[in-house]
Amino acid sequence: MTDLHRLSIREMAEGLKSAQFSSRELTQHYLDRIAKLDDRVNSYVTVTPEYALAQADAADNLLKNGTAGTLAGVPLAHKDIFCTQGIKTSAGSKMLDNFISPYDATVVAKAKAAGLVTLGKVNMDEFAMGSTSESSFYGATKNPWNLEHVPGGSSSGSAAVVAADLAPFATGTDTGGSIRQPASFCGLTGLKPTYGRVSRFGMIAFASSLDQGGPMARSAEDCAFLMNTIAGHDAKDSTSINKEVDDYVANLNATAVKGLRIGIPKQYFNVQGLDAEVKARVEESLKTLENMGAILVEIDLNMTEAYVPTYYLIAPAEASSNLSRYDGVRYGYRCENPKDILDLHKRSRSEAFGAEVQRRILIGTYALSAGYYDAYYVKAQKVRRLIQQDFLTAFENVDVIAAPSAPTTAYKIGANLSPTEMYLGDIYTLAVNLAGLPAINAPVGFDKDSLPVGLQLIGNYWSESQLLSIVHQYQQNTDWHTKRAAIAEENA
Ligand code: GLN
Repeated sequence: MTDLHRLSIREMAEGLKSAQFSSRELTQHYLDRIAKLDDRVNSYVTVTPEYALAQADAADNLLKNGTAGTLAGVPLAHKDIFCTQGIKTSAGSKMLDNFISPYDATVVAKAKAAGLVTLGKVNMDEFAMGSTSESSFYGATKNPWNLEHVPGGSSSGSAAVVAADLAPFATGTDTGGSIRQPASFCGLTGLKPTYGRVSRFGMIAFASSLDQGGPMARSAEDCAFLMNTIAGHDAKDSTSINKEVDDYVANLNATAVKGLRIGIPKQYFNVQGLDAEVKARVEESLKTLENMGAILVEIDLNMTEAYVPTYYLIAPAEASSNLSRYDGVRYGYRCENPKDILDLHKRSRSEAFGAEVQRRILIGTYALSAGYYDAYYVKAQKVRRLIQQDFLTAFENVDVIAAPSAPTTAYKIGANLSPTEMYLGDIYTLAVNLAGLPAINAPVGFDKDSLPVGLQLIGNYWSESQLLSIVHQYQQNTDWHTKRAAIAEENA
């Protein structure tokens, strides 16, 4: 079979169960595609063929003796921020270029226990700081829809591997949009779960009160399968919530779109810099949902202007604290011939952290320093509370809130946006993390340059099932999620 990569996750799982193909064949199929096509996409930091084939053989044994779980034998790729025992975990940084993790992240352990096959680890912005992949030590990943454009970030490789069919689905993380924005730029479905739904244990920390892992795939159904595997309480993550996990696959048709109240924030559609074509595609998708029975309700989210400044104080503050552990002593990069301990810390950190990471450490350290702490960090925390309250008030009147995922389609590689321009591109995604809410991106069409546009739906706490269900039903009525980039149509 030459077109195994065109199957949905459900079809792959069924094909494996009914022995139409083996996990080894399916895994080899993806490894061949990676070998042939990834030079042009630069999505994998590490490919693990032997490891993958061994896992595939183990899954094939379970499939043969009838003890395999739902997803046994299906391949996936992990963002290189999830620790993988015995396999390099770089976080896209020179700092961790030599880091072999001694243990698995809970997300990775859960995927293994489900019999999923790890194809490898995929590229990302350095320590997940960025929106393009250009801050990665391993160079920029290319957008499969147009190789001269970025795939978005920071889960850049996760998006690119799915869009180029170099993995059927992937894990990502979202601190301020890093699942939803690359999903939007690459025409995919990506879910950022409620803070605490997916364990952060073994997920390299950027900003701990904002970080959350989640699935990236072509469809809501594919995402639901991965959510069923990775969601749940974990005693090893003190911020993970002990709350029953939904069966996201079983619930795919459970939410009624008829009568669903979708809030349209006035402020969001008047943002300066919102591309006219993005706006038009998003409005068309809302029209489709309206035709399916949803009710569009104009709402106010008055704190919109505060999103970017609030996030860009809190996230760097937490990052400066989290990244202080990379001191050249315990693990990670160490400079050559240090003169003394201060020289060791200084040179190790300045030689191994890239410019964007250094910028965030500087901003964060400043915001946390005595004398400025109250004026910046404490103030930002208070504004964060107001942003959350704004959403909670809105959810008294609507079921979900609609927005673009990003104000534009994918930038050109090397566009050289200033940090401020880049940060403003996160306007639609940051508040969700500040409030700890779940949100999903769904592909809803293309601009005139054939670059994908995404719709974001933001839900109330623990509404992952509802978000997946709404998008699933939208995808039963439309075919944007089935469109493939030219490179995905090529055979190995
Ligand atoms: N683009 C945002 C940033 O650079 C979000 C990144 C993320 O979600 N990891 O911080």
